[in-house]
Amino acid sequence: MPGFELFGDAERKELNDVLENGVLMRYGFDGMRNGHWKAKELEQELQNRFGVNHAQLTSSGTTALNVALAVMGVGAGDEVIMPCFTFVASFESILASGATPVLVEIDDTLTLDPAAVEAAITPKTKVVMPVHMCGSMADLDALQAICDKHDLLLLEDACQAFGGSYKGKMLGAIGDAGTFSFDFVKTITCGEGGALLTNNSDYATWADQYSDHGHDHIGNDRGAETHPILGYNFRISELHAAVGLGQIKRMDEFIGIQRRNHAIIKAALSEIPEVSFRRIPDPEGDSCGFLNFFMPTAEFSNRVLEAFASHGIDAYWNYFNNNWHYIRKWDHFKELKSLFPLSDHIKKGLSNLKDIEFPQSDDLISRNISCLIKLSWTEEEVRERAEKMAKAIKSVL
Ligand SMILES: *Cc1c(COP(=O)(O)O)cnc(C)c1O
Repeated sequence: MPGFELFGDAERKELNDVLENGVLMRYGFDGMRNGHWKAKELEQELQNRFGVNHAQLTSSGTTALNVALAVMGVGAGDEVIMPCFTFVASFESILASGATPVLVEIDDTLTLDPAAVEAAITPKTKVVMPVHMCGSMADLDALQAICDKHDLLLLEDACQAFGGSYKGKMLGAIGDAGTFSFDFVKTITCGEGGALLTNNSDYATWADQYSDHGHDHIGNDRGAETHPILGYNFRISELHAAVGLGQIKRMDEFIGIQRRNHAIIKAALSEIPEVSFRRIPDPEGDSCGFLNFFMPTAEFSNRVLEAFASHGIDAYWNYFNNNWHYIRKWDHFKELKSLFPLSDHIKKGLSNLKDIEFPQSDDLISRNISCLIKLSWTEEEVRERAEKMAKAIKSVL
């Protein structure tokens, strides 16, 4: 990751098909398009590659979550359980649905802690939303068992783990629905875009309608279509879909490069006894978009961060003070700085968010270092980098 590093002829060819016929919209204009349906083709590729019955493209990963929550019937008065380490899109999409986000601890998988999920369930809980952060997966068997026991829906946010799998099934294709982002920094990019995967045919029909103003998409005269439900416009354009179509055809190549680069760096760091790695519920299914490791204390991790900088190493983060990925810096959320009035249910549900503590997550996130695995590195560059990283870590022990 990210896919833009290897943007090239495959993507340009798909884009040129669209530029040549000028139909930039995914619906209608059948006569003008010379048989080019890039969004439809990309949805078909997703269905084939992920082994699901339905894929719905959207304008972003965030709007894919909006659509997923809508088709699951999530709205006013409901609660959705999400991790405190994620991207802001998690609570944005839940708030947009009218439901209340309920934040819980992560465990050493860096994703939802199943015990914390179970403890947070109330009669209002409708959905559990694991976020497969930094390339690898949540403990999906444990979360599915909790959902089955309490009659809840499982929504996988697989935006950061495209191409990963769990016990032979693709991430994003396991829960009642799953989502991807194809924004500019993800493993496969459209520039901007997202997708919802599901095997539920009602969800698929509703997602198709809801993401396009409620259009029924029956016949070939848009103006004459009816609108069975209320919707919005979360459509992707043909231009964006064309880029994604070029990229997804290179998916196996991209994941292969990530796995090679990841293995080289992990092997080098494994020789240092003070370094430990995140728990990966199915190691074979790691998409390897990132390598995450822990130091024994936060102080050690800070020293490693300094040593990486002084050794000229780039592309790594510690998320403890990060504005976008960890609850500590989400003041706009804790203070509910909404442009418009929020419901009493949301205000009440989030009134103590400022005071809730996440000691287990604080400990894990403060000791964690997350390294991006790039696609453009040559094997030789990765070997040099791995050696430099190991040397930098050893210099502070
Ligand atoms: C990128 C991302 C999203 C949102 O995707 P956009 O396409 O940027 O809206 C959602 N969740 C996670 C975990 C992400 O990393």
